[in-house]
Amino acid sequence: MNLQPIYTETNDCKDCYKCIRECPNKAIKVTDNKASIIDSMCVYCGRCVSVCPTQAKKVRDGISRARLLIKNKKEVYVSLAPSYIAEYGTNSEALISAIKKLGFKGVSETALGAQEVSKQVHQFLNIRQGGTYISSACPVVVELIRKHYPQHSLSITPFMSPMLTHAKQLRNLYGNDIGIVFIGPCIGKKSEADSAAQCIDVALTFKELNNWLEKEKISINDQLNCNSETFIPQKAQHGTIYPIDGGMIETINKKESDTKAEYMYFSGLKNIKNLLDNLDSEKNDDLVFLELLACETGCINGPGMSDQKISISKQLSLRNTCKQRSTEDIETVEIQGLNIERDFFNIPSFDKKSFSEKQIKEALHTIGKTEISDELNCSGCGYDSCRDFAKAMLQNHAEPEMCVSYMRHVAHHKATILLQKIPSGVIVLDDAYQVVEMNAGCARILGEDIQLCYDANPGMRGAHIDKIGSFGSLFKTALLTGKEYYEMPIIENGKQLQLSIFNVQKHKLVTGILQSVAQPEFQKDIIEKRTREVINKNMETVQKIALLLGENASYTDSLLNSILETQEKKDAE
Ligand code: SF4
Ligand code: SF4
Ligand code: SF4
Repeated sequence: MNLQPIYTETNDCKDCYKCIRECPNKAIKVTDNKASIIDSMCVYCGRCVSVCPTQAKKVRDGISRARLLIKNKKEVYVSLAPSYIAEYGTNSEALISAIKKLGFKGVSETALGAQEVSKQVHQFLNIRQGGTYISSACPVVVELIRKHYPQHSLSITPFMSPMLTHAKQLRNLYGNDIGIVFIGPCIGKKSEADSAAQCIDVALTFKELNNWLEKEKISINDQLNCNSETFIPQKAQHGTIYPIDGGMIETINKKESDTKAEYMYFSGLKNIKNLLDNLDSEKNDDLVFLELLACETGCINGPGMSDQKISISKQLSLRNTCKQRSTEDIETVEIQGLNIERDFFNIPSFDKKSFSEKQIKEALHTIGKTEISDELNCSGCGYDSCRDFAKAMLQNHAEPEMCVSYMRHVAHHKATILLQKIPSGVIVLDDAYQVVEMNAGCARILGEDIQLCYDANPGMRGAHIDKIGSFGSLFKTALLTGKEYYEMPIIENGKQLQLSIFNVQKHKLVTGILQSVAQPEFQKDIIEKRTREVINKNMETVQKIALLLGENASYTDSLLNSILETQEKKDAE
């Protein structure tokens, strides 16, 4: 399998770093402004897919493979996750009928596998005196422990997940040559299915099922009168509560209550990482069972559901179904002696690199952070702190251009050099008629007094325009009218000059360019046009710094070079 369950369409990536910010494992690498997933660190939680504003993060589509399976196998069954009740409601007959119209032989509930897992976990705990054990039901949690907390791999209960257990049950009942397609709320199951291809052929999300039904023009609502369809080999009972956090524990306790274990549940990757971070220091003699689900409130809010709203009604529909089924007299097909044991150790984990203080400091220096006070920890780069970002750069997971404050500094520096290099005079003025920026060329043109002031206050920031020259009223008119462009001859300091004024931000900011009329016309135009472009670009940059800065900085670069070339040509002449 070449394509990973989650991947990036790099052409669609607009380097906003939102995926890095949201990824609990920082399993994303940026190269040439494009964010891609680091498979050895990714746990397939799907968070980056949900938050990417340009849909550059994609979930691998399994519909074609499922179709092919139906074409090539005599019998293909669906293992339907119990969260289907939260996605489609309680009319299972209509849903089964719609799914069978796609070509499946039958639909069975993954909850049957869950019931078997609970039974075996209970027996496992029953013969233990102490220790902390973690459920193997959520593939994202298992992947998290394998890759990022390998020291806890031995704490995972040594059993297959409900999905794999159910696949084993179905193969036991209908033969090993059947095809099995899991359909549920989970992206992580795709990765689990990839690693257990002998059990599960394809894992689809509910979103994919919806797309498939839509493509085939099959409506679940059109099947509402179909009462003859039923789950095979039978309906599940208490296993239907599994997708709610605490559900697995309820099924273990419902079955038997004679273990000495303390049962606890946690959901949401942030909480789980917090818990695992502290697990080492919390060693105790008690027997503790931890049900950990990566999705907040459980699988009913999994990334493969149509929505991730936390709602009472989703929980209620599952709880009511579970209650109702526990009162039904369901004839059960028991499979005796099903071996669902599995171990989770000896699997390679992500190689966490550590860096010396010297290396981190050197990396911080490359983004202009030489003092602690330079470390803003603003998360603009996607990392929680400047030091985390420095470590990511040392691992080649991040590029210096991702640091917003560094890029703003670079852009400002370049704009300042540019203004200084321009032979004409440039004044940027705000709506209080105060100078925002003025270049040395302007001071030279305006004479000795202004030159002295400029030497004392380079840039003349804050100086009132009326103190600079007799042309203040022209700037004020440009600000008041917001008129796009003024050009007029003036006499200042005994020199004949051409003053061009344009609005950078209407009524807020104007820029004036003072040039000697003796300057060759063609060069005057070039300088004027390019100064205007650069100032415009850098003003946009200030406004859109997070998104566009890198691009503008390089644009400024090329403009700067072109102006310098023009100037060099003139000097040569
Ligand atoms: S969230 Fe932003 S950086 Fe990440 S893939 Fe999407 S566009 Fe690219
Ligand atoms: S799927 Fe989860 S772990 Fe993987 S890159 Fe996306 S947010 Fe990170
Ligand atoms: S909580 Fe459920 S849906 Fe979410 S990742 Fe885990 S198994 Fe999948």
